[in-house]
Amino acid sequence: MKHYKHYINGQWVDPSNNQWFDTENPYTGEVWAKIAKGNSKDVNKAVMAAKDAFENVWGIMKPTERGKYLVRLAEIIERESTRLGELEVKDNGKLLAEMGSQTKYIGEWYRYYGGLADKVEGTVIPTDKDNMFNFTTHEPYGVVGLITPWNSPLLLVAYKLAPALAAGNTAVIKPSEFTSVSTLEFMELIKEAGFPNGVVNVVTGYGVDVGAPLVDHPYIEKVAFTGSDVSGQKIYEAAAKKIMPVTLELGGKSPNIVFEDADREAAVMGAISGIFAATGQTCIAGSRLLVQRSIHDEFVKRIVEVASKAVIGDPMLKETNVGPVTTPPQYKKVIDYINIAKAEGAVCVMGGNPYKGVGAKGNQFVEPTIFTGVTNDMRIAQEEVFGPVLSVIPFDDEEEAIKIGNDVNFGLAAGVWTSDIGRALRMSAKLRAGTIWVNTYRAVSFMSPFGGYKRSGEGRENGKEAIKEFLQTKSVWIATKTSADNPFIMK
Ligand code: NAD
Repeated sequence: MKHYKHYINGQWVDPSNNQWFDTENPYTGEVWAKIAKGNSKDVNKAVMAAKDAFENVWGIMKPTERGKYLVRLAEIIERESTRLGELEVKDNGKLLAEMGSQTKYIGEWYRYYGGLADKVEGTVIPTDKDNMFNFTTHEPYGVVGLITPWNSPLLLVAYKLAPALAAGNTAVIKPSEFTSVSTLEFMELIKEAGFPNGVVNVVTGYGVDVGAPLVDHPYIEKVAFTGSDVSGQKIYEAAAKKIMPVTLELGGKSPNIVFEDADREAAVMGAISGIFAATGQTCIAGSRLLVQRSIHDEFVKRIVEVASKAVIGDPMLKETNVGPVTTPPQYKKVIDYINIAKAEGAVCVMGGNPYKGVGAKGNQFVEPTIFTGVTNDMRIAQEEVFGPVLSVIPFDDEEEAIKIGNDVNFGLAAGVWTSDIGRALRMSAKLRAGTIWVNTYRAVSFMSPFGGYKRSGEGRENGKEAIKEFLQTKSVWIATKTSADNPFIMK
């Protein structure tokens, strides 16, 4: 069985304690690779390599040159996208259709930020001072720590690594302990693209053993994290002790809101895509379906009709619509929430059980599940399940839809289905979320900012502004005429 080592300073490096852990295929439950179980010693080795690469190569390289590496990497990723997609499926059990299209797409992040690398410009500021020239520059932090979850490993690395490198930082990546392989295999592409040693490093292992020491390391100057709000809070607290900036992309409990004037069939597909795509394991899942009361019963009937035809089974097969839950703890969490919803009095109109039928293997399948009779104060409406479990909540008018939509701690995304442009704009303005989709759901691009309001996070990924997350601004003052001024008064 293949043993995957850490990737440090351009080399494959054994774990310092010679310990390894298993990675399993969520569909079959079989162990298919062994992963290095890192610790703070390994983290230190990687950070020191990244620091050296920052100070001596990458941080002093012309941005145009840095950009060329990223563009070269984009082309290699596109060539290897099918293989990378298959590796992702073996590790996280999501559909090949979904993961394959993600890995085909991620080259665009490296191409986009490669192009942006030499377009970061400072400003000359016409200050109010006499005989002074003032300008700004934007400089990289140094070594950044990038920590990713299991649901979309390489895509979420791309969100962080592409702008971080373009800005001139070097990186230590800590992938999820459940899905390390694709990030490690990706290092072969980093090598092939010719990145100097130490610019990109990967240390694998558990959150407490590798993630926490990475955040705490004195030479890590910025952390970008995607994961749960619980881990995000811990990272934020640890970062506060160092006064270190962080980007946090956390969970969601997004409302997908259907008005009676919507294109009904499109909204049905949007509701289903919002919750059952990727087996509900997306941060942007539209897990609260708000339906205008006048169409509620008919709409629910139709989503049950369509969703109950979803093909459950092997994520590698083209015809499969819903695969397994990725990890054993996540499977338990989904089943627990189904039981909580039942105990709270929600009405289960579809699914609600482990799935053991045709196509199932292993022990991690859950029936796509729909609850009606949900009120927004129930735990099933407030807490992130991260699985194929939909809560349907009726509303009467726009005002009520906004009130219910915003009445959660999260604010990652929201969907609005309506044929009234005025309503679309009013809703977009009033919903407290980082992304609003009107008559669509789950659209993302390397060009468009992505991030959360409230407990869904801090900072933005993607788009032009994301490169600023990896830069700090310096203001330079030059006196154009020297003078011996009064030293006790501010200029
Ligand atoms: P998780 O928080 O358990 O783990 C994420 C990563 O953090 C893993 O690599 C883990 O090892 C590491 N980690 C855990 N504790 C840590 C600590 N104390 N210090 C440093 N690192 C630590 O999340 P998960 O279960 O892997 O992923 C699912 C979560 O991710 C969901 O809540 C989902 O909403 C969220 N998510 C958010 C986005 C987004 O962009 N907003 C995208 C995808 C997933």
